[in-house]
Amino acid sequence: ASSVEAYCRQHEISVSGDDVPAPFMTFESTGFSSEILREVHHAGFSAPTPIQAQTWPIALRSRDIVAIAKTGSGKTLGYLIPAFIHLKRLRSNNQMGPSVLVLSPTRELATQIQDEAVKFGRSSRISCTCLYGGAPKGPQLRDLDRGVDIVVATPGRLNDILEMRRISLRQVSYLVLDEADRMLDMGFEPQIRKIVKEIPTRRQTLMYTATWPKEVRKIAADLLVNPVQVNIGNID
Ligand code: ADP
Ligand code: MG
Repeated sequence: ASSVEAYCRQHEISVSGDDVPAPFMTFESTGFSSEILREVHHAGFSAPTPIQAQTWPIALRSRDIVAIAKTGSGKTLGYLIPAFIHLKRLRSNNQMGPSVLVLSPTRELATQIQDEAVKFGRSSRISCTCLYGGAPKGPQLRDLDRGVDIVVATPGRLNDILEMRRISLRQVSYLVLDEADRMLDMGFEPQIRKIVKEIPTRRQTLMYTATWPKEVRKIAADLLVNPVQVNIGNID
């Protein structure tokens, strides 16, 4: 317990919630599959980042999470690796629709997330596609029709495709709201709420934000169930 306390103090990790598991301070302690560990070593990573260390064991218990951390802290793999494990446990048929949905504020960020999912999910045979505005819908719809495990989307384009009834979110059981504060600043709250209405309430929801203002607290209270809150750094 004291090494956990020292680790959390050193990395400025604070957590609140029921039954919070200890962080995975090393990759060896994660129990990740050899496929995933191979990709991680291939990328040259020597240890989990603090947000990964603290959120991985929580996410693997299928708990909801709200994580407050600044950019560059490794949040993407923080939610993608548990998403891969979730998909493996589900063994769902992706022809029915994606099981994992990641909402991201911009095309650029969504594309980066997809790149990370493709790179780290390759040996686990995870498929991922990206939906964003400012590009023709045709190729995006064709990718969806082939069946994908993970959809990374900006709220505006996903909402358009939902209204066209070209995607079903009824299979989604793992929802990520990445950069939630930025999505709200960009005015995406109505689209986010419409999208979430299409997703079954029996799901795991993970929300990431750099800041913790009232609007973000409100949407977290509405969309998450008994979340564990993880803070990295000196944000109150
Ligand atoms: P954030 O979403 O918090 O801004 P990213 O997920 O984009 O951060 O990660 C920032 C960078 O750190 C990326 O280049 C990513 O590949 C790298 N990274 C992720 N996890 C680790 C790790 N455990 N060790 C070293 N680098 C990592
Ligand atoms: Mg990010």
